[in-house]
Amino acid sequence: MKIAVLKERAAGETRVAATPETAKKFIGLGNEVAVESGAGEAASITDSAYAEAGATTGDAASCVKDADIVLGVQAPDVALLKGAKPGAWVAALFDPFQSRERLEAYAKAGFEALSMEFMPRITRAQSMDVLSSQSNLAGYKAVVTAADEYGRAFPMMMTAAGTVNAAKCFVMGVGVAGLQAIATAKRLGAQVSATDVRSATKEQIESLGAKAIFVEDVEGIEGEGSGGYATEMSDEYKAAQAKLVSEHIAKQDLVITTALIPGRAAPVLITDEQIATMKPGSVIFDLAVAQGGNVEGSKPDEIVVKHGVKIMGYSNTPAHLPADASALFARNHFNFLSAFWDKEAGKPELDEEIGDAVRLTKGGEIVNERLKGA
Ligand code: NAD
Repeated sequence: MKIAVLKERAAGETRVAATPETAKKFIGLGNEVAVESGAGEAASITDSAYAEAGATTGDAASCVKDADIVLGVQAPDVALLKGAKPGAWVAALFDPFQSRERLEAYAKAGFEALSMEFMPRITRAQSMDVLSSQSNLAGYKAVVTAADEYGRAFPMMMTAAGTVNAAKCFVMGVGVAGLQAIATAKRLGAQVSATDVRSATKEQIESLGAKAIFVEDVEGIEGEGSGGYATEMSDEYKAAQAKLVSEHIAKQDLVITTALIPGRAAPVLITDEQIATMKPGSVIFDLAVAQGGNVEGSKPDEIVVKHGVKIMGYSNTPAHLPADASALFARNHFNFLSAFWDKEAGKPELDEEIGDAVRLTKGGEIVNERLKGA
């Protein structure tokens, strides 16, 4: 099998879908790996590091020529895949609900698009799950970036000149990113509190030494929620949550929001009116800004100042940690394909549970159940 790795072309994308480590492992399975020259540059990986691992490097067309599998971080434009084998697999992020046109083009070209964001949340797929690996890094980066913008220190410091108070940090949405945000803010010495709609997160918040702030009088989502995902909440819950946030947020110095609902715009959790109650100099980092935002007025890749509060968020947070984000993304790809490697056939054979979950196009059609009628 020939596996091709292209340089990412999306604006602001710094990651790469394979590292020398994973290229070597794919080669160990009997494959040829072709990496586009400069593909790893933004992630501090040189062409010669790929070559040392046994990969070939060259221009996009020569890499893609006769490829059986193309690996990407963000799915490449179909035009770039000209020359790949008929029916070639392309494993990458496809943003499936927002990119119908691209999926139709993939179907028309006869490629099999495998969406890494549709990896099912089952135990055996954890090591293949790019949403988890990237969210974890994003949660960390949100806190250190917010810390950098905050004009004060995180930990309490008792000095000869007087005491510096500990920062108060509130994390809204305690999935993978939120848990890492809590852990990072704790490590930096902040006093941390957190909230979610899923009751299972209460124990997780407390086990990290943070304070759980929950809506008590209206029922949220019991336990983990379906597949660990939240759904849109009732109007009654939203009103109770808004009241709780209003009471809590005025005392916070930093707020990290990470609330997402799959296939929908992110829920708005902080209004302009609530921001106005915060102290000047406070910082809000909206990790959901690219999905519509949890914070009224947040804009991707900009620092918006409202009522003296800095509101910020990146359109692609993991891309701000290119080396680690690439290393984990590349391992997710390898763990995925190698788990299904049929040694005799010399290629991967996906099973129904994972294959049908991630496969978007095949045989000229859009085949994924989640996209039917979308
Ligand atoms: P996510 O990115 O979809 O959402 C982030 C968080 O926002 C979630 O915890 C969600 O409950 C919360 N949220 C949504 N609406 C909210 C609102 N209105 N107010 C407050 N919070 C709100 O979630 P995620 O980080 O991908 O993970 C969620 C869960 O899934 C976690 O428990 C995680 O451990 C689990 N998970 C399991 C696997 C696996 O088993 N393979 C993989 C990934 C995640």
